[in-house]
Amino acid sequence: MKAISVVPGHKSSAQIIDVDVPTVTANHVLVKVKLVGLDRTDYEINEGLYGEVPENEKMLIIGHESLGEVVEVGTEVKAFKPGDMVVSTVRRPDDCINCRAEEYDMCLNGGYTERGIKGRHGFLSEYYAEEEQFLVKVPEKLGDVGVLLEPTSIAEKAVRTAFAVQKRMRWEPITAMVTGTGFLGLVTAIILKLRGLEVISVDRSDNAYKDRIFSQLGILHFNTKQINLHEIPHEIGRQIDIIVEMTGNSGVAMHAIMVAGTNAVIVLASITGGDRRIEICGDCFNQGLVLGNKTIVGIVNAHRRDFEQGIADLQTAEAQWSGLLEKLVTARYPPENIHEALSSLFENIKVVIEF
Ligand SMILES: [Zn+2]
Repeated sequence: MKAISVVPGHKSSAQIIDVDVPTVTANHVLVKVKLVGLDRTDYEINEGLYGEVPENEKMLIIGHESLGEVVEVGTEVKAFKPGDMVVSTVRRPDDCINCRAEEYDMCLNGGYTERGIKGRHGFLSEYYAEEEQFLVKVPEKLGDVGVLLEPTSIAEKAVRTAFAVQKRMRWEPITAMVTGTGFLGLVTAIILKLRGLEVISVDRSDNAYKDRIFSQLGILHFNTKQINLHEIPHEIGRQIDIIVEMTGNSGVAMHAIMVAGTNAVIVLASITGGDRRIEICGDCFNQGLVLGNKTIVGIVNAHRRDFEQGIADLQTAEAQWSGLLEKLVTARYPPENIHEALSSLFENIKVVIEF
């Protein structure tokens, strides 16, 4: 079968290879891949910046945002049958206390593996096999939008974490700000709207296509080339209660922390590789956090419950803003055009490979 592999550490090594269709053992499910979403992680793996081959192998099949159809199940599989649409989770456990409690996303030792990223093949292949415990069933009516579930799970974890840490007090948030308007920023904004918040979306450009999405959602957009982040609370006449940082730019992250209001929570959920240095007023930063009772929390990956909440929210979003979610998939490529697909990532909201 056809698959897309890279040699980690080598720039632009993505290529089509021919590998065997995986065999299905008793507790495994064989999935025929329909769509695979690409993100910055795939881009950076193909840039040679990271990625790890499975043990005793020389290449890594990439792809971690999948949507596929079950075509065969092992004799012990109970929850799935041929014809089911499924999304696979990405991270696999080591033996730390969190992994043993099925909190792989909170892995303590770092010995986890991740499909398509770290020590395990991903989903950019015609078929993959997986244990049923790592698969999530997706309602058929979500259609191709199901491919958005894996990245949506990250946004779900960000929002769930914000509300969880704020149980430290009585808290009635009104306004949320999301920095970044890539797929993760947009889906986070959608989830926060569904939680009943006023949502502000911030990035560094104006884009007519995204403006229509903001307007359909009832989201206020600010371009920080035109207004300083610090002026936004004054501009809207109230403080920001939740900030979710989805740009991965550490400068934006530091300024977001300082612009958050009293008793606010700031969730940092994105990174970019590098060693950017920025200068901030350390005393102002410290005073703001202490006197404002603010909390900063970082999150990575997602728990299975975030996938489940993601399914619920994608369905509610589809019902509330019909046709909106499919507008977030802005480019489709065949596997052969993987390089073109990866280089188009930054001008698109979500790029998918269609098998
Ligand atoms: Zn662990």
